Amino acid sequence: MSKKWVYLFSEADRSMRNLLGGKGANLAEMANAALPVPPGFTITTEACNEYNDLGKQFPDGMWDQTLAAMKEVEKQTGKKFGDPSNPLLVSVRSGARVSMPGMMDTVLNLGLNNETLEGLAKLTGNRRFALDAYRRFIQMFSRIVLDIKAEPDPFEEVLNEYKAKTKGGQDTDLTEEMLEEIVEKFKAIVKAKRGIDFPTEPYEQLRLATAAVFNSWMGKRAIDYRNFNKLPHNWGTAVNVVTMVFGNMGNDSGTGVAFTRNPATGEKVLYGEYLQNAQGEDVVAGIRTPKKIAHLAEDMPEVYKQFVDVAKMLENHYRDIQDMEFTVERGKLWMLQTRSGKRTAAAAVKAAVDMVNEGLITKDEALMRVEPIQINQLLLPRFDLAAVEEARRAGRFLAKGLNASPGEASGIAAFDADTAEEWGLEGKSVILIRPETAPDDVHGMLRAKGILTQRGGATSHAAVVARGLGLPCVAGCEAIRVDAVAKQMTADGKVIKEGDTVSISGTTGEVFAGSVKTIETDFSKEKDLATLLQWADEVRELGVWTNADYPKDARVARQFGAEGIGLCRTEHMFFEEERLPIVQKMILSETEEERQKYLDQLLPVQRGDFEGIFEVMDGYPVIIRLIDPPLHEFLPSYEELLVEVTERRTRGEDASEAEMMLKAVEAMKEANPMLGLRGIRLGITMPGIIQMQVRAILEAACNMTKKGIVVKPEIMIPLTGHVNELKVALGYLEPVAKAVMEEQGINVAYKFGTMIEIPRAAITAGQVAQVAEFFSFGTNDLTQTTFGYSRDDAEGKFLLKYVEDKILPTNPFQELDQDGVGYLIRIAVEEGRRTRPDLEVGICGEHGGDPSSIEFCHRTGLNYVSCSPFRVPVARLAAAQAALKDRSEAARTVTRDV
Ligand code: ADP
Ligand code: MG
Ligand code: MG
Repeated sequence: MSKKWVYLFSEADRSMRNLLGGKGANLAEMANAALPVPPGFTITTEACNEYNDLGKQFPDGMWDQTLAAMKEVEKQTGKKFGDPSNPLLVSVRSGARVSMPGMMDTVLNLGLNNETLEGLAKLTGNRRFALDAYRRFIQMFSRIVLDIKAEPDPFEEVLNEYKAKTKGGQDTDLTEEMLEEIVEKFKAIVKAKRGIDFPTEPYEQLRLATAAVFNSWMGKRAIDYRNFNKLPHNWGTAVNVVTMVFGNMGNDSGTGVAFTRNPATGEKVLYGEYLQNAQGEDVVAGIRTPKKIAHLAEDMPEVYKQFVDVAKMLENHYRDIQDMEFTVERGKLWMLQTRSGKRTAAAAVKAAVDMVNEGLITKDEALMRVEPIQINQLLLPRFDLAAVEEARRAGRFLAKGLNASPGEASGIAAFDADTAEEWGLEGKSVILIRPETAPDDVHGMLRAKGILTQRGGATSHAAVVARGLGLPCVAGCEAIRVDAVAKQMTADGKVIKEGDTVSISGTTGEVFAGSVKTIETDFSKEKDLATLLQWADEVRELGVWTNADYPKDARVARQFGAEGIGLCRTEHMFFEEERLPIVQKMILSETEEERQKYLDQLLPVQRGDFEGIFEVMDGYPVIIRLIDPPLHEFLPSYEELLVEVTERRTRGEDASEAEMMLKAVEAMKEANPMLGLRGIRLGITMPGIIQMQVRAILEAACNMTKKGIVVKPEIMIPLTGHVNELKVALGYLEPVAKAVMEEQGINVAYKFGTMIEIPRAAITAGQVAQVAEFFSFGTNDLTQTTFGYSRDDAEGKFLLKYVEDKILPTNPFQELDQDGVGYLIRIAVEEGRRTRPDLEVGICGEHGGDPSSIEFCHRTGLNYVSCSPFRVPVARLAAAQAALKDRSEAARTVTRDV
């Protein structure tokens, strides 16, 4: 006996999605729940795979089983396929495991020919309807199965020609005579384009349509789609053969689509559209303007009531929002599809919370229903969709770049950081547009509402900083030309000058001229989100901390639920405008005394910064990282200075000051700054800097303690490679800390720890933990040092291509490389805790906000993840999901053991 390739709806259920595709499995499920589903069957995805493996041949036994299933359907319907006296017609529909564009479209009314046409006409007493079905069938079969496609569509041209002859101008206005002529013209098109007579034998039609569905699985569009979405090619598609029901039999008939809840807002109302006297996808295709589903209550009250009941039943049964397709034939409702409905972030959150309150799902299920990343979208200002369409129609679309940091904003164009800062401080909404950004643009970025760059990838400086700040960013927008000197950009033949309004979507990468209306989200008013995140907090085991350099960011993060600061970078404070000159003088000092003088000037400023942060983080830990970047980053660039010196000299001006700076910068030049004098190496070389920082931290801590604030400072050393570095640093810092506490007469409990961002530190974590009381994995640098990639160079030059060519599975700077970098983390956690069981371990790289990396952190037993403020809600949910997955896996293992 051959394998079973064909399943009647009565032989299947929803658990067979992989074998029968989503559509088939759900049709069977509905049929068996006694819902009105037209009789039919499904040919399996395995048959599809076998067909393609055999070089486009139906596998052994499949066709016989199909014929037998058709006999069964004939029995159930009392009709006969190809029988003019009582013809059975079917639809042939593709359906993969997940719904997938690029697959074959549905062919309706299959089984019609000149004889069955007359039978259908006689039987229904409606020859016009039968002809309408026939012309639709020929049109669909020709386009989809015979692959007759052209621009403009020859079939549509004929239809339009006839529609134009009618008063109303719509397909429903076509007369019987017209349809008769149209059918003949359609057949003539097939003859002309394919040189064959239109296939008239119903089983031949079925065979061809089935093969076409199987072929479409390996069509270019479908393959491209699967490649892009990383879906396997061996899933295959099923073929569903379903008895036709007719929505085009008059005004007591129709077709429609509906959601059980509003997929945009989540509101619990039936949401959808339908068309009277229409068939198939007329609703979506925009043939005529459909009516809102609520009107069905007036047009066909009985049907509406029944549909409401069916919708309710389906939602209760699947316990999720359903997206349904239905047809009404002469006042009788038929269900043709149901699946879980795609929804916006807002709808996902609201529906999940509502369903818990309705007793439909559990809190744990609700937590698994929302994609963590969706929450991010929910928090960022976004364009009003209608406004985007309007901008497009008005020709205001300018260009599309990389969607580097989500969110959308409108504002006036500024082409340098100073202007952006100035206007931002005046309360104006500013979009900072640069060829690319660098650290000395940050003061402008801080005040901007969005960033647009011509060059640079998804992890360029602009992108990384923007993501950290929760700012929309379009990067690498090569279709624009930014002229920073002339302060303008050109795109799509238009010139945008400083002060002109532009709009950018960091979510889609699109750039528009002029403003686009945006909608803001007020987190404190998102009650459903707050509820969901509170449930998340109840189940998660990971702490969620934040990376924040400024009190402002810390405040935002606290609102979002951050329970600590995992990384407060101090060098941003050095970059601020009024401080940079002092920092530079400090760096260029020739004697220790001179350096100390400038450090003394910096001390109160740093102390102020820390006081602000401690105040916001009252009661929560704050990890402050001591100075990290190489000092030359605080000085003008070598190239710029060279130009300045040369220009001054040619103009005969005094160049001595610039020359001095040039010499100093030259002396600091390094071949590979990433591996050079930075981090703890710098701290040890110039201990005065880190001593000043520790003094500032502890003075701030004492001052705040006196004000009644609970401070929990943790001092973090960057870039440790050897435990001895920590010992030396501790030797410099501990006396300072002690001295401050004595001066102030206050004892502050502080921790001393290190970042782990050098493989050697991870491997020797057991030794490092003898000194360090905590570890924080700086996974951006740890990824760089483990792979030996410089991120800035790699992403532009080869890394993205590596990912595309599958040399690397994903970009390791976005998703933690669990096999390599993750292995080091596991060793470090294990070895570190062996030395110091209460070692506090967290992650502060960008991965701390990435759901798959968060899951890894949970499994590896970290205490917390730290991410940018806007990622905190995402991380709370992702951490909860990680815990839930872990528990359900543990539960499964236990059951298996029993
Ligand atoms: P898609 O996967 O593109 O949604 P479907 O297979 O669901 O394609 O078919 C599209 C539409 O065709 C359905 O929503 C329904 O309106 C119509 N249709 C499909 N099968 C039948 C049928 N047996 N009788 C009437 N209409 C059908
Ligand atoms: Mg479709
Ligand atoms: Mg459908």
